[in-house]
Amino acid sequence: MNKIIFPNNTLFRIVRAVHKTHTVLFKIKANVTGTVLLTQNFFMMNDLRSYTISELKTILASYGEKPYRASQIFSWLHEKRVSGFEEMTDISKDLRQKLSGDYCIVHLKIAEVQSSKKDGTKKFLYELHDGNLIESVFMKYREWNSACISSQAGCDMGCRFCASGIDGCVRSLTAAEMLDEIYTMEEYTGEKINSVVVMGSGEPLLLLDELLRFIEIITADGGKHLSQRSITVSTCGIVPKIRELAEKKLQINLAISLHAATDEKRQQIMPIAKKYSIAELMDACVCYFEQTGRRLTFEYALIDGFNDTGEDAAELADLLKGKMSHVNLIPVNPVKERDFRRPDGEKARRFKVRLENFGINVTIRRELGSDIDGACGQLRRKRKKQGSEYA
Ligand code: SF4
Repeated sequence: MNKIIFPNNTLFRIVRAVHKTHTVLFKIKANVTGTVLLTQNFFMMNDLRSYTISELKTILASYGEKPYRASQIFSWLHEKRVSGFEEMTDISKDLRQKLSGDYCIVHLKIAEVQSSKKDGTKKFLYELHDGNLIESVFMKYREWNSACISSQAGCDMGCRFCASGIDGCVRSLTAAEMLDEIYTMEEYTGEKINSVVVMGSGEPLLLLDELLRFIEIITADGGKHLSQRSITVSTCGIVPKIRELAEKKLQINLAISLHAATDEKRQQIMPIAKKYSIAELMDACVCYFEQTGRRLTFEYALIDGFNDTGEDAAELADLLKGKMSHVNLIPVNPVKERDFRRPDGEKARRFKVRLENFGINVTIRRELGSDIDGACGQLRRKRKKQGSEYA
């Protein structure tokens, strides 16, 4: 254990001064005199896969290298997906040594994989370099494969129907870690992933800069080269961040976790609803549509006896009337720690028909992986409760 002493409020400067390419990855507990205890893992070199091509050009220019080296290295990282700098055979030994002295390439470890016998869905429990656990899901559709990835280890948003939010957020993921959720899945399954949903644990708009970097890298030529339209980002409704994202004018899909059509009901299941009203959220959604031309999806977890009545359907239709939107109904996944139940299939279908009668585009999400720990965050919680070596 190391220890440094610093004047109050100067922590960040000191951390940056230690090494400009290192990142603080742990929450820091400082006492009033400004003493910080550094654990062994306190500093971690930045993963070179978290950098966009233009950022790589800047890094390489600082070593006196030509810009074309950036595309070469980007391709080694994101197309050939090397596990170490020594595998970059057309890069000089000198440059490889410089890079490995300043940056790292760290891979996720697979802690567990659950496979559905029914439909080929695979749930991955990954261990991050610091021992934290995250979940990702590989979903197989007839004509394409999709990955649902996490953006944070845990989540601070506290939605009552979600297992990921029960213990709060430990930390946000880096772009490299989000990418590696997909790369590791492709390597394990031997299958290509054609679409990505950032809908696992975490609120991705809280790490907007890192999310934008992830999107830029995964869509770049010379890497995985996914189209922006194949990416969906889900948010519980951080209004200012939706507006910020809208200004980027990307062609990604935005999914809003709505789950209730009135502030009163939404506040009962989503703490974020106490901060931003539905009216503010809808204004931000209109802004997103105006800036990007992309239709929004509204996620609606059907909870038996709470938000699945005829009146709920009418209120939801009223809210979305005239808006370019699609409603995705998701019979809620039972979470052991909560007492929410899903409505039976007939009730869910009735709710859908009611919305359709009001002219709303709506689908009931096809249930995948029902024979494995399907609900987001359940596998991770199970491992933690078992006192796993990974938790
Ligand atoms: S639903 Fe999403 S935002 Fe809400 S607690 Fe779960 S992971 Fe967080």
